[in-house]
Amino acid sequence: MSSKAKLFVVSAPSGCGKGTILAEVFKEKEVYYSVSCTTRKARDGEVDGVHYNFIDDKKFEEMIKNNEFLEHAGFVGNYYGTPKAKVEEMLDKGIDVILEIETQGAFQVKEAMPDSVLLFILPPSVKEIERRLNKRGTESQDVIAKRVSQAKGEIEKAYKYDYVIMNDALEDAVQDFNTVFESAKNDDSNADIFKASNRNTIKMIDEVLKNA
Ligand code: 5GP
Repeated sequence: MSSKAKLFVVSAPSGCGKGTILAEVFKEKEVYYSVSCTTRKARDGEVDGVHYNFIDDKKFEEMIKNNEFLEHAGFVGNYYGTPKAKVEEMLDKGIDVILEIETQGAFQVKEAMPDSVLLFILPPSVKEIERRLNKRGTESQDVIAKRVSQAKGEIEKAYKYDYVIMNDALEDAVQDFNTVFESAKNDDSNADIFKASNRNTIKMIDEVLKNA
């Protein structure tokens, strides 16, 4: 069994329910959840330093210049980035780390740290994303439309991840997430059915895109 700490990169389109899945996962696991920096305005209920470090463009650009990010990307008009120091500190201490970031950032991490594990969470359909975003009610119709269109582009990248699971029913998604997590840690084949190279996984991504 491998005891080396792992870096997990989780991506999912907005409104995919990844926050709910991760909250369940964190109840059982001792992992460090990396708090990103963003220039997006905080939503109601979001706490600075907990959900994100909310910073302005000037500070973000300064951090880019000082090479303080493991990765960073632009997403629907704002910057998002993972501060490098804390992630490295945790991995050095032997603590697993989870980043919850979009696809451009995920591929930057894979390039910088090839041992990282990329997991994509698929929504059952793009229509379901739209429904969940409308229900959440935290964004304007204009932003929801942009996020839905962005979601399609993100799903097309799922083929390039290490693993892909679907969030159809929460309990199943949490179980699938845990299977991938443990399998990647133990370097076994228990999660091979979720590999992006698996024929059924490819079919599942095809299906979501076909109906988008
Ligand atoms: P939201 O505005 O809904 O919180 O996040 C928008 C997107 O940015 C989501 O796909 C989320 O995963 C992604 N994101 C959050 N933090 C980071 C980060 O540090 N880096 C990158 N590249 N994406 C991030």
